[in-house]
Amino acid sequence: MSAAPSITGGGDHQADADVTSLPQAAGYGRALTGPALTDLALARGEVDRSAYLRANDAWLAEAWADPATRVVVAEHGRAVCEIGDAGAALVFAAPSEAPDGVRFLLGVDEGGTAYFGVAGPLVEPRPDSGLRAAHLREAGPLLSDLEAGLMTHAVALANWHETFTHCPRCGAPTDPFASGHARRCPADASEHFPRVDPAMIVLVTDADDRALLARNALWPERRVSVLAGFVEAGESAEQAVAREVQEETGITVDAVTYLGSQPWPMPQSLMLGFRAAATRTEIMVDADEIAEANWYSRDELRDAIASGTLRLPPPVSIAHRIIQSWYGSELPGSW
Ligand SMILES: [Zn+2]
Repeated sequence: MSAAPSITGGGDHQADADVTSLPQAAGYGRALTGPALTDLALARGEVDRSAYLRANDAWLAEAWADPATRVVVAEHGRAVCEIGDAGAALVFAAPSEAPDGVRFLLGVDEGGTAYFGVAGPLVEPRPDSGLRAAHLREAGPLLSDLEAGLMTHAVALANWHETFTHCPRCGAPTDPFASGHARRCPADASEHFPRVDPAMIVLVTDADDRALLARNALWPERRVSVLAGFVEAGESAEQAVAREVQEETGITVDAVTYLGSQPWPMPQSLMLGFRAAATRTEIMVDADEIAEANWYSRDELRDAIASGTLRLPPPVSIAHRIIQSWYGSELPGSW
């Protein structure tokens, strides 16, 4: 067993996370040049974060006074969206409509429009409004790149402000600064920054290029995915890959290759995608976390899906795209 909570184990730390349904939308940054996964397409988000403006109080006040400024109100991982058959749109508030709450600069777009977030309270839209408060997991895959990036940023910071309200050293309530991207303790002047927990997700292959897929003990029957887990303190991501794979399946790996990353603020993770090669292939599952694990050739996987024996994570997930990168074409199945 791992000392750290496992993502696939669904511990409290990750109570809201399900790595098999990671919204593609929850991605930032353009660079993704992993050797085997150039199509991972995690890159979304088009607003310049404009970090240099976070300490510019005059600019921040001016931007907040501008009615064209757009505000994302986020609370408990949700924001108000309009969700239809064709997609979703984030519903922005004007600054004058935004509730009291910790305010943070999300960035400035190419047209000069400023975007802020406010950490709740979120007002539930009226049922007949066509709007509703949607979780990032639901709305993220449906939003445009720009709005997905904004919602991910807003949810991540709101999660942090909701949770890390007091100084870990002395217990005094802390105050936001740097336009909500940091907090400071008034008693001892210690500074605190948004917490991000790195986690890894890995596709392991054997000498015959079969893929290792496992079913977490908490998942429904037939559902399988690649392995995942949290990086422990003082550990590299590559070491975490090797440790988690060994702990959960008894398999040892080398040639750990980084593929790309994806923010997963549910509440505060960063997913690091890898591939790895098995050096010992005999499977001995950790029954506490993993119900079953098996090696699959591409033909075996296709047949298992066709017969209904297996179900894979949906296309919006990083897990799906990592598996697809190995499979070589669109994965069969329905989601
Ligand atoms: Zn303190």
